[in-house]
Amino acid sequence: MEKITPADHRYADLAAKRFNKRYTGKPEYIVLPTSTAAVVQALQEVVDSQRRPVVRSGGHCLEGFVADPTAQVVIDMQLMTAIEFDTTKGAFVVDAGVTVGELYRRLFLGWGVFLPAGEHPGIGVGGHILGGAFGFLCREYGLAADHLYAVEVVRVNEQGKVQVVFASREDDDPHQELWWAHTGGGGGNFGIVTRYWLRSANVSGDNPATTLPQAPATLTTFRIGWEWKDFDEASFATLVHRFGDWCLRHGGPNSPYISLFGILFLNHRNIGKIEIKGLATGATAADVINAFVKDVVEPVGLAYTKQLEENAWLQFALNPFPELFQPGFDKAQAKIKDAFFRRPLTDDQIATAYRYLTAQVPIGGMIGLATYGGVVNAIPPDHTASAQRDAIMDVACNTGWMDPSGEKPSLDWVRNFYKDLFAASGGVPVPNEQTDGAMINHPDTDLASADWNTSVTPWYTLYYKAGHPRLQAVKAAYDPLNIFHHALSIQAAL
Ligand SMILES: Cc1cc2nc3c(=O)[nH]c(=O)nc-3n(C[C@H](O)[C@H](O)[C@H](O)COP(=O)(O)OP(=O)(O)OC[C@H]3O[C@@H](n4cnc5c(N)ncnc54)[C@H](O)[C@@H]3O)c2cc1C
Repeated sequence: MEKITPADHRYADLAAKRFNKRYTGKPEYIVLPTSTAAVVQALQEVVDSQRRPVVRSGGHCLEGFVADPTAQVVIDMQLMTAIEFDTTKGAFVVDAGVTVGELYRRLFLGWGVFLPAGEHPGIGVGGHILGGAFGFLCREYGLAADHLYAVEVVRVNEQGKVQVVFASREDDDPHQELWWAHTGGGGGNFGIVTRYWLRSANVSGDNPATTLPQAPATLTTFRIGWEWKDFDEASFATLVHRFGDWCLRHGGPNSPYISLFGILFLNHRNIGKIEIKGLATGATAADVINAFVKDVVEPVGLAYTKQLEENAWLQFALNPFPELFQPGFDKAQAKIKDAFFRRPLTDDQIATAYRYLTAQVPIGGMIGLATYGGVVNAIPPDHTASAQRDAIMDVACNTGWMDPSGEKPSLDWVRNFYKDLFAASGGVPVPNEQTDGAMINHPDTDLASADWNTSVTPWYTLYYKAGHPRLQAVKAAYDPLNIFHHALSIQAAL
């Protein structure tokens, strides 16, 4: 297998492939396999030479799990991009190097269907689906992992021999636990996923058009905007309360509003605006959005702008909310700190948010509150490794900077903001009545740091809750030599 070393003119380009510019790796070489057999060969060579491999698919990791100076070989999946319908399994088979945008395009144009997955088209399915994967249509159709039928994993056994394992959700599959671990266990843990098979639950037969949900013909997006300067603490609190109350009332699978998804962007005042962006599907989309506006937006009592726009599905999926993902947004260094909420923010948490968002600091940042739940909450917590099944919001404190001088103020701001938000539970969203841990697709190494997590709840319980021992058993069985590891990887024994 060809090794791309620093002497190769492709190396610089490949080494630069990562979303979060906060981290830089320096692998001895990078390989670009084009088949499962090539992945096996490349990995065997790495293991035999006692080097440390990491696998990369889309390069959208938010932490430095791939761009890691101690990683010696990057196995880059981006040339494995086939998407087919496998009639023998009645499922779509998708190579790990496919991006989410390409998956949307091919599934829609080929068969009229879609997988409810993440928001940015550049994410790789390789590192995405196995982390659960939520997105714009998750309230109506569930997580991407809820539609996972099977995986093909290249793993290393106790003797250091590389093997290919097929693991499906079928009850009589001896590798069913490995499939389960890939429904929310997160990337870089058990081996290299080479292929995913996708088929929704309770679907049988081999008709591709009914194997995954039919894509909506159109959807309606909405954008609500306020001037930050118009807010005082009382109107800010009204907005956050109204949004949280809506999420609480409509977080279950039987809500008549599961087709609506929205994010409340509580930007730092430096940014000048507070916004809600979202969408609804179906013939009644505009009515659903207008009812949401009446419920959440109007009670704030401030002037706002409102824009509704009908979009064809694929055009939206390939370029959603263009202003969010403008050219250059991927040049930044970033820190994202995620938390699931079961109940709305408390008065104290809203006061904390107001304090941090109006603090006079030279940073750009925000707290984003995304609607969650809907049919995601129809699935029992142990059914998949995505354990949070009664959350109503996914909340993230974010910051980004371009210049090195921005690092310290931005990190201090976002870390202390999050810590103070969860001051009543040791600085982290412990599973309790109000909060429910965090999402592994948004990994945050601070959760494993005694400086930032002063609760008695370890990082792995925040991410996996009661499923963690099961993931440990899978790790022991399928990666006994701990070939695949990073700062938040599953450890067979603690
Ligand atoms: C702009 C942006 C938007 C995002 N939006 C969403 C969203 O809407 N919903 C959501 O759920 N998440 C979202 N995420 C998070 C994203 O899902 C995760 O970062 C995901 O892990 C990225 O996968 P990747 O293949 O692109 O990343 P990579 O950097 O290639 O890999 C991420 C991790 O997965 C491992 N991995 C990669 N490929 C494989 C493989 N084939 N087999 C086993 N392990 C593998 C890597 O080793 C690494 O640990 C977003 C991230 C960004 C940067």
